Amino acid sequence: MNEYTTFKQISLPRLNNLQPGLESTCLKLMEEAGELAQAIGKFRGMNGEKVDLKEKEVVEMISNELLDVAQVAVSMMFVLEETYGINIKEKVDDHIKKLVKKGYIKVEE
Ligand SMILES: [Mg+2]
Repeated sequence: MNEYTTFKQISLPRLNNLQPGLESTCLKLMEEAGELAQAIGKFRGMNGEKVDLKEKEVVEMISNELLDVAQVAVSMMFVLEETYGINIKEKVDDHIKKLVKKGYIKVEE
C-alpha cells in the first residue's frame, strides 16, 4: 500500500493512570471533538466572537485539540483490545481495504 499513498504515523501512549471504559472514552471523544470544532469556529470567527488570536495561535490550538481527539481514539482502541479482545491491526487492514473499495485511495493496477 505504501507504493500508492503516504501514511501519517503517530504513536500515542496508553494512559496507565486511568481506567477508561467504552462509555467514558466515547463521552470524552465527543467532548474533545467539540473542543476541536470550537477551535475551528474561532479560526473562522464563526462563533460570533471578535477574534483576537493570530492565525498561528488558532492553528496551534486546532492542532492541540486534534491530538486530544486522536489520544482519546487511541485510548478507546486500548479498551477494545484489552477488554473486548479486538485486534486493532486486523481492523486497520480492513479499514484500508474499505477506503480502497470506496475509491478514497486509488490503487494503480
Ligand atoms: Mg481538548
